[in-house]
Amino acid sequence: MRLRLPLALATFALFAGCAAVPPRPATAPAPAANDNLDAVAWAQTAIEHDLVYLQTYRDAQSRLLAALHDPQWDALTREDRAAPAAGLPPAVVLDIDETVLDNSPYQARLVKSGGAYDEAGWAAWCKEQRARALPGALAFTRYAAAHGIAVIYISNRAQDLDTATLANLRTLGFPVSGADAFLGLGTVVPGCEQVGTEKGCRRQLVSRKYRVLMQFGDQLSDFVDVAANTAAGRRQAIEGYLDWVGTRWFVLPNPTYGAWEPALFNNDWSAPPAKRRQQKLNALRYN
Ligand SMILES: [Mg+2]
Repeated sequence: MRLRLPLALATFALFAGCAAVPPRPATAPAPAANDNLDAVAWAQTAIEHDLVYLQTYRDAQSRLLAALHDPQWDALTREDRAAPAAGLPPAVVLDIDETVLDNSPYQARLVKSGGAYDEAGWAAWCKEQRARALPGALAFTRYAAAHGIAVIYISNRAQDLDTATLANLRTLGFPVSGADAFLGLGTVVPGCEQVGTEKGCRRQLVSRKYRVLMQFGDQLSDFVDVAANTAAGRRQAIEGYLDWVGTRWFVLPNPTYGAWEPALFNNDWSAPPAKRRQQKLNALRYN
């Protein structure tokens, strides 16, 4: 039979018991919630991430020589092709960040600190020259170079990060040669007006010297300039080139950052974080 103590007595016993227990050592506070945690964890640890990169570069490599030997083959749009491709030497064009170099440690640091991207922090990370090669990128670019195909990196790293960036690439074994190897943000292209961070002018610069066999990137803007960065505008920008995806253009996954995100909140980074977050929730499909 269970004894029932009167409530007041039971309460006294409970608190008296608590008082007798020595205080526990303080535990570290739980890390603040961060919407980018899963995306960075996936990019950095999931084998599936690595396999997507590997299969993309392997597939491209298996198609590269056919493209090389087809004199009509060109991976630049009519808008980007400033000079006829016929007779020009071959090249492949690759973005750098999250295309050939893995910057997930920079993202991981932001998740841990609760910080946000800023130019100074990003430049400091680039200057560490500790980005690793993404799976398949090294083998592909070396294969291209071995077949006499120029390897050109069009990146939105600032042009003055060229020394650190090229050193990082060289240390990893990426082919880097010629004055055109790194076309960063700030590259002046005569006769072409730079629009924001769009890469069209730099693609035009490449088009004057090369027939481009393939392009690689993790952002839509690595392939086409995007006039309206909305979900609909982004789909419209790629619409005429869907047949090129997987043959001339190779798209890699980046759930950790990119223009897809501000497209969900009207590109208004000045809006409070809670408002941007709500707009992202509003953008989800629920049925
Ligand atoms: Mg990129």
